[in-house]
Amino acid sequence: MSDYYSLLGVTKAASADEIKKAYRKQALKFHPDKNPGNAEAELKFKEISEAYEVLSDSKRRQMYDQYGKEGVAGMGGMGGAQGFGSMEEALRTFMGEFGQGGENIFDTLFGGGGRGGFGGGGQSMKRPGASKRVNITISFEEAAKGVEKELSIQNYCSCKECQGLGSASKDGIQRCSTCGGQGQVYQQRGFFSMTSPCPTCHGAGQMITNPCKVCRGEGVVKEKHQVKVPIPAGVDSGMRLKLTGHGDAGSHGGPPGDLYVFINVEDHTFFVREGNDIMIEIPISISEASLGCKKDVPSLFNHTCRVSIPEGTQSNKIFRVKGEGFPNVHGQGKGDLLVKVMVETPTHLSSRQKELLEEFKSLETTANHPKRSTFLDKMRGLFSVFNF
Ligand SMILES: [Zn+2]
Ligand SMILES: [Zn+2]
Repeated sequence: MSDYYSLLGVTKAASADEIKKAYRKQALKFHPDKNPGNAEAELKFKEISEAYEVLSDSKRRQMYDQYGKEGVAGMGGMGGAQGFGSMEEALRTFMGEFGQGGENIFDTLFGGGGRGGFGGGGQSMKRPGASKRVNITISFEEAAKGVEKELSIQNYCSCKECQGLGSASKDGIQRCSTCGGQGQVYQQRGFFSMTSPCPTCHGAGQMITNPCKVCRGEGVVKEKHQVKVPIPAGVDSGMRLKLTGHGDAGSHGGPPGDLYVFINVEDHTFFVREGNDIMIEIPISISEASLGCKKDVPSLFNHTCRVSIPEGTQSNKIFRVKGEGFPNVHGQGKGDLLVKVMVETPTHLSSRQKELLEEFKSLETTANHPKRSTFLDKMRGLFSVFNF
């Protein structure tokens, strides 16, 4: 990765405002919502967000100028413990900067017409809400057809009493005197100066002197609520859906986190999924396999599919019924239904059946069993002493 300044396309002398503008421009270009599935854009977005994390903080920028990346390692910021890896952090950086206040960043991203305005500078108590993960188990049929599920989740929601401010009155929020509103205190530790969250305001930079009674100054309260999750047809186990803004509410006006729904699909008694195809095994008898037959096979979509099994069909042969598989979760096309036949050797034969099979056996020719004949020929060639 190249250096932070060139990543953002600014010079080392750039002002804080220029850096912010440069980051905004780049971030809007490489935002993952604008480049779905584009790994290169994703990487770029992470890199520029990391660069911005450092260069937007005067103290860290100074350390970086002096000592390079080593100088800012371990100073907080990227790769936090929140859970979704550095993309999550990158998005947090982005949303923390542009996703609040006057601008609707998604309008801007998709040309909806929101207009500039970088919020009002300086530290605030705004804190983004945590993203959450829930697991959901759906049936095989639901995965094939799509389904809407309602989830009951316990979230931090913005406090209605104080509109999420945490203060019972407008003038009840004051700048923290310990850190002067920075939210952080600096300590010199030998070679490096270290930052740590302010012990008085716990990093908020502000103090609430008259906390809201309902949320006790937190700005958020825990509430149970229902979320409708539309699950598209074709989903598979391990896929995750993102419900933007359905995580915990941010406190004191910070942006909400997202809700990630992890899908688990139950196994089916008869069907096995292979990509977007569905495999089903059906047992057929020796006489059916030998003479040919027609079989009605159940499909997942409430009807049956008639499969013609020609005479002389071998075990494990797969017949393909077009378009009876899972729909492609990304929209286009459908998988197939794969019908695998298993030839079952009859058991518990009556004496009459045995008699008939004995008679059949006496009439068998090598043409009836081409595979067996070839096999025996090869064996004779290899082990001439044996008599097969
Ligand atoms: Zn403080
Ligand atoms: Zn409140």
